[in-house]
Amino acid sequence: MTDRLADSIMPRLVEPTSDAIAEASRLLKRGQLVVFPTETVYGLGADTTNAKAIELIYALKGRPADNPLIAHVLDDVQARRIVATWDDRCAVLSEQFWPGPLTLVVARGEVPASATAGLDTIAVRAPRHVVARALLQMFGRSISAPSANRSGRVSPTTAGHVVADFPEADELLVLDGGACEIGIESTVLELTGSTPRVLRPGAITVERLREVLGEVDAPPVTTQLASPGTSLLHYAPRTPAELVETTQLAQRLAGGAPAAVLCFEPASVKPPHVPVPMPRSAEPYAARLYDALRTADATGMSRIIIEQPPETHGPWAAIHDRLRRATGHADRDGNDQ
Ligand code: AMP
Ligand code: MG
Repeated sequence: MTDRLADSIMPRLVEPTSDAIAEASRLLKRGQLVVFPTETVYGLGADTTNAKAIELIYALKGRPADNPLIAHVLDDVQARRIVATWDDRCAVLSEQFWPGPLTLVVARGEVPASATAGLDTIAVRAPRHVVARALLQMFGRSISAPSANRSGRVSPTTAGHVVADFPEADELLVLDGGACEIGIESTVLELTGSTPRVLRPGAITVERLREVLGEVDAPPVTTQLASPGTSLLHYAPRTPAELVETTQLAQRLAGGAPAAVLCFEPASVKPPHVPVPMPRSAEPYAARLYDALRTADATGMSRIIIEQPPETHGPWAAIHDRLRRATGHADRDGNDQ
């Protein structure tokens, strides 16, 4: 939890008590924005059915108008109210993986065009975080919410990250649920064609989806631009970052400018370089990643070096996707968040 400095201008961080959740629900009903924790990252939420409220999200984030939002729902019953189709695959997937970090892209129902950036499809997900669920329950309908960061910055995994990105949004209510359990954005699965397609890898792996659905397309990480707004460099820190194999690490550090180094062996990183220790297994690595990138940014070093995790499959696939994006395999114009 993050302390609030008395009398300073900043978002209103509150413990997610039932009173605070009730207030958040009232604000949503009045067309205002609220920040709430999910198990993936923090979301900046608005009433899906309120076009003016949706506009506020784009304005506050500085998000390009062509980058669609995920509609958060309590369950498949709420989901069905905002989609045009809900086939057997959706029924099976929601049964198996909801509430959880899987977003389904299906034909759009009766929602304002701005809620989907004008697309005829809509992305829906039921988060499993208790605070998100309590808010959805109380609000009673879908909440559209992208990650609660300024466009082009790393997604927030603590309430403190949200405050860092919107220090002057003094009206913004932030339900502080502590650190997010998963720490990277949901898996996005498109179900509009005959073969389901992963548009963005996440904690629900393509291997698990294939166990349930059979054939699932998963474009290779480097060419993954199919989902609107998932241009490369989405998830980049401000400081230029580079991905380096363990065997090359010493050489890249020797003689170069001082670097903040996301690494597995902090003892191997000597001054003037600064180690930012990372866990060796995938789930804790993902949970730590965005905070580590923000920490590395804050060291003031002129470069960030990320030791490349050796594994690339299963739960590591989503991490590699974010690492590639963070290390700039594209131009800086495409970033969104
Ligand atoms: P964020 O909530 O910031 O992680 O961003 C939501 C992301 O979900 C977007 O940037 C898209 O990549 C994806 N998304 C949302 N709606 C759609 C849609 N209708 N079709 C395809 N991808 C979508
Ligand atoms: Mg985002």
